[in-house]
Amino acid sequence: MTYQNYSLKQLQQIDAAHHLHPFTDHKEMREAGSRIITRANGPFIYDSEGTEILDGMAGLWCVNIGYGRDELADAAYAQMKELPYYNSFFKCSTPTPVLLAKKLAELAPKHVNQVFFGSSGSEANDTALRLVRHYWALEGKPEKNRIISRKTAYHGSTIAGASLGGMEPMHKQLNGAVPNIVHVMMPYAYELALPGESDHDFGLRAAKAVEDAILEAGADKVAAFIGEPVMGAGGVKIPPMSYWPEVQRICRKYDVLLMLDEVITGYGRTGEWFAAQTFGIEPDTITTAKALTSGYQPLSALLVGDRIAATLVEKGGEFNHGYTYAGHPVACAVALKNLEIIEREGLVDRVKNDTGPYFAKALQEHIGGHDLVGEVRSIGLMGAIEIVRDNATKERFLPAGSAAVLVRDHAIAQGMMLRATGDTMILSPPLIWTRETIDMACDRIAKALDLAQADLRKQ
Ligand code: PMP
Repeated sequence: MTYQNYSLKQLQQIDAAHHLHPFTDHKEMREAGSRIITRANGPFIYDSEGTEILDGMAGLWCVNIGYGRDELADAAYAQMKELPYYNSFFKCSTPTPVLLAKKLAELAPKHVNQVFFGSSGSEANDTALRLVRHYWALEGKPEKNRIISRKTAYHGSTIAGASLGGMEPMHKQLNGAVPNIVHVMMPYAYELALPGESDHDFGLRAAKAVEDAILEAGADKVAAFIGEPVMGAGGVKIPPMSYWPEVQRICRKYDVLLMLDEVITGYGRTGEWFAAQTFGIEPDTITTAKALTSGYQPLSALLVGDRIAATLVEKGGEFNHGYTYAGHPVACAVALKNLEIIEREGLVDRVKNDTGPYFAKALQEHIGGHDLVGEVRSIGLMGAIEIVRDNATKERFLPAGSAAVLVRDHAIAQGMMLRATGDTMILSPPLIWTRETIDMACDRIAKALDLAQADLRKQ
């Protein structure tokens, strides 16, 4: 029986009765009911009522080539018929992960040539954490195992992912979880720059927090620093250009590995294949997932730099870690086709030279001047809108987050899906957006802001 045999109400009731959702207050959801998305095409999603909504979040930062690509369905179908599954344990391989690893080595920065597959970004970060600690153990320095991360970072929802991340509400439910991870300040100039401090100087100061944490622990105790090039779930926090090169300089000075979490930024989002290229740095590990398959299949790839890979091969010894679905043949076939489409349609270049700059300008011109907006910012095709009560003082509405939720709800009613995190609205659309789609999005968001402002005035 297919879902069409059920009414919306029935689906919502069954959902509430049996389905526990991620990051959800289940009491609240049972009262409100869920929004049921039934199909999608190009840049649009459709709910069970047939309402068309422009998807400003590419699903969950992942559907970079847009919806409804038959080529990906065909690739999955063909692979399922030929070989739906075999593992890559016990010195076995299947063809598609082999070819995908080669392709990723070609696209990644020069010093990155090895790939470890998983099914999600969280899993890939678990692998990354285990791998860097394993690396230092192989190098005869097992005590060099501390990881430095940042407040409000998001690195996934497994125990290791949540411990690496810097989300306080998650830590509260973790009870200590993975030890020896510390969190330093984030490079978020809008709230943390001092009066009169330039963006450049703020970037250097935020990087200095990494050095301070290394010195506090002692460099011989610190394995690695991990960060998202642009903090995503934390609110599309874009660091000043001075930040990452300085973090890299500090890591090199103290022989600390650099781990970059590109689960959101990988595969074109910032206008290069990887944000490591956008910011001009050479990380030792790059975590990727999401847009690797444009979300059509669950798949992650931890890209591993030559330094770590060389030690694995030279020193030997088993790395006691791996997943049943590591290098899943169907997911890898879909990823290969997805990357082929991104290349064929020149989507990365388009973000860099056309839609990215146009997106920045359109946000600035159509949204940036609104009374409710404290700042708009973007890099490539990811952007943020700060919602404030007073854009001169940056004062927020109370309770925290309530105004952004209001804007979001109006936006969805206007046919525009975007997300609210705290008091920041975030956008991360499919890379197939054109100038026309960007204009359509800005119109709808501007309308939502007007409606939210009218509501707030009444309150
Ligand atoms: N790292 C980052 C930067 C992410 O944004 C996410 C997911 N939003 C993850 C890791 C976790 O990925 P997943 O949900 O696939 O486990």
